[in-house]
Order: sequence, then C-alpha cells, then structure tokens
Amino acid sequence: MALIVQKYGGTSVGDTDRIKNVARRIQQTRAEGHGLVVVVSARSGVTNELIARARAINDRPDTRELDMLLAIGEQETIALTAMALHAIDIPAVSYTGAQAGIFTDLVFTKAKIKMINPKPILKDLKAGKVVIVAGFQGINEEGQITTLGRGGSDLTAIALAAACQADKCEIYTDVDGVYTADPRVVKNARKIDEISYDEMLELASLGLKVMQSRSVEFAKKYGVIFEVRSSFNHNPGTIVKEEVAYMEKVVVRGVAVDKDQAKVVISNLPNKPAAAAAIFNALADASINVDMIVQNVAHTGGVDLTFTVQRDDASGAVKVLPAVLKKLGGGEIKAFDNIAKLSVVGVGMRTHAGVAATLFSALGDAGINIQLIGTSEIKITVAVDRAKADDAMRAAHEAFGLERKV
Ligand code: ADP
Ligand code: ASP
Ligand code: MG
Repeated sequence: MALIVQKYGGTSVGDTDRIKNVARRIQQTRAEGHGLVVVVSARSGVTNELIARARAINDRPDTRELDMLLAIGEQETIALTAMALHAIDIPAVSYTGAQAGIFTDLVFTKAKIKMINPKPILKDLKAGKVVIVAGFQGINEEGQITTLGRGGSDLTAIALAAACQADKCEIYTDVDGVYTADPRVVKNARKIDEISYDEMLELASLGLKVMQSRSVEFAKKYGVIFEVRSSFNHNPGTIVKEEVAYMEKVVVRGVAVDKDQAKVVISNLPNKPAAAAAIFNALADASINVDMIVQNVAHTGGVDLTFTVQRDDASGAVKVLPAVLKKLGGGEIKAFDNIAKLSVVGVGMRTHAGVAATLFSALGDAGINIQLIGTSEIKITVAVDRAKADDAMRAAHEAFGLERKV
C-alpha cells in the first residue's frame, strides 16, 4: 500500500459538484489500495474576496487578524470534502493546519514552515481514514494561526509529502500540467512532460502561476518528486524532479511573464562610489526587493540608475529615495508602473549559445522594445511595456519552437 498526497486547488473544489468530483477521485485512489492525505485550497476567489473585505474595513489590516480571516477559506473546504467522502461511505477526517501539526515561524501572511509533527495524521491513516488537511495555514509557537503566502496550499502538500514520507505527491489543478507558456495567452502552448526543479523554480518565481515558488524550493530541498495534473480528466501531467542529463538537450523549456512590475529611473546621480550602496540600502530597509538593475554613466558625467521592483513597491521607492538623493547631493526619480518581465528558462542554456540573440531578434521583429536585460545561468529576462507582454510571450514561444514536441 502506497501513501499518496493529493492537493486540489481552488477551481477543483470551487462548488458542490466539484467537491463531489474530488471525493470520487479519492474513492478511486483508495480502491487501488492506497492511503491518502488530501490537501485542499479555499474555493477559487474566496481568498481574494476575504482580502477585499478586510481592506474595505481597514486599508492596512493587522496581519494577525488577516491570517485569522484568510484561514477560514480552507476551513470551509476541508469540512465539505470530508462530508462528501462520508456521503459515499469513506471514513475521513478534516484537519486545520494546526491540528495537522504544521508549525511555522512568527511571520504573519507569509510564514515559513519550521516543523511538521505528522503523528496525528499517521495515526488516522493507520486507522484507515482519509486525512483532509487545510492548505495554506499553520500555527506558530505562540499558538497563533499563520498563512503561508499566496498559493501556499502547494507548500502544505509538498511539506506533508516530505514529513509523511509519501510515495507520491500529486498537485491537481484546472490545467493538464505545466505548459511551455500560459495556455490562455499562447494557444499552441504544449504540456511539458518532465521539468527540473531549477527550471520550475525559475518559472514559478518569474510569474508562471501554476505552482507557488516556495513550494518548489521546498520540494528541491527535500527531494519530493511531484506531478502537476488536472482534476477534470485522467491525462498524465508534468513530473517535476531532479535534473537529468537529457534535459539539457532542450534549450528553452518555457516562457513566463510577470505583469506586476514597475521600473524606477534615477538620473543625474553624482558619480560617487557609495551612491548605489546608499540607494539600495534604503530600499532594503523599507523591505523593497529590487530585481533587474542597470547603471551607466551619462555623457554629462552623472550616473543613470534604473531598476525594477514589484508594482506595489513603486510608490514606496519613490517615497524613500528623495531623502537619500538629498544626502548624495543630486539626482531625479521617475517611476513607470507599466512594465512586464518576460523570461525564457531552460537548463539547456548552459550548453547552447545564441539564446539571447534569438530572443532579441524575435522581439525586434515583433516591434517590441527591450527596456532592461538580466541573465542567469538558465534564464534570460527582459523588461518590456506591459501592453506588449502577451505579444512578447507569443513571439518568444514561436522563436524557440516550443509548440513542437521534443
Ligand atoms: P490552483 O487554484 O489549482 O492552485 P492556479 O490558478 O494557482 O491553480 O494555477 C493554475 C493556472 O495557472 C491555470 O489555470 C493556468 O491558466 C495558469 N497558468 C499560467 N501559466 C501557465 C503555464 N505555463 N502552464 C500551466 N498553467 C499556467
Ligand atoms: N487560498 C490560498 C490562495 O488563494 C492558498 C491557495 O490557493 O493555494 O492564495
Ligand atoms: Mg495555485
């Protein structure tokens, strides 16, 4: 008998019929003789709705209270899923994150899992029950409810698979797997059969939604192999696992776009050695993460510094920086919040040349201006006008022939 962790996302438990569908799928897996730990998300839209309700009452809600509120989304679906199983005579019990022994650090709204005590779950599994666990939540050492960051049910599933030493971890969603690009934007995007942790991690942190990036990081660290697949059919999905040699044959595995970016331009900065340090220290102190950075000396002798931040952080940057520029003795700030980041990712880039040239030519031919460029060993990222982001994704997808089966 194998132990399988299955995670069902928001759309998969979106209404009564879908919860009944999940119960039938659990019934099938159980009929094959397997033990099951099932992680569910809140119904799709519920977490957003709860955040909106909090903000309507207080535009800066206390984070402890916010987590208290957000945790109810998953508490609804675990109970309903257990009831759906009882209705077809399957013994099942629902657990909140705290009851499942998921202990986190003290950071509300994006807590990290510190430890899982799987004993209560293992006891129920032994007694023949299906254990249903609320995704996205845990408890900290002070006994407070915490949440694991948006999309955090993925992390709950991966972490439980590691803690319970599950034989399999399946992430059920509303698409057949991980595609070479967002299938809603690129019509001929293709399902990827196998992808390495590093590629999945880059794609997830660069804007591809299917998996929460922290969950992929966790899977890599603990060697949890998982499959992303659909809860609406029985097609094989995408296996995410350690890199193997043949994966390098494919130059670009996938394309991701993040539309929530902004660009900050500081021009005419005095050309002093410590200027950049002063600016980025001030941003770090304000918890603003900077991503792509370009600095160059203008013909006037002043320095121009351009960088990207998350769109929500642009106003914070504009607030923090004037004081720094005053101290440095000059510089003007402008923020542009109409930026998107397009990235192509693939472990094959390590061994293939000309990837940047192909990408830039494709964007040039499509009339798309590149505003900033960043690279790492397995990715190339460019900042473009947000209005052109979907066109850029289609152009990159075509340039690397990603619609073709490999
Ligand atoms: P869940 O609620 O199951 O966690 P998410 O909404 O978080 O599901 O992620 C699944 C969605 O991600 C799909 O509906 C799909 O539209 C979107 N998506 C974006 N890019 C991709 C991609 N490259 N491959 C697959 N799905 C993608
Ligand atoms: N319900 C949470 C969210 O919407 C967690 C999840 O769906 O994974 O972010
Ligand atoms: Mg998700």
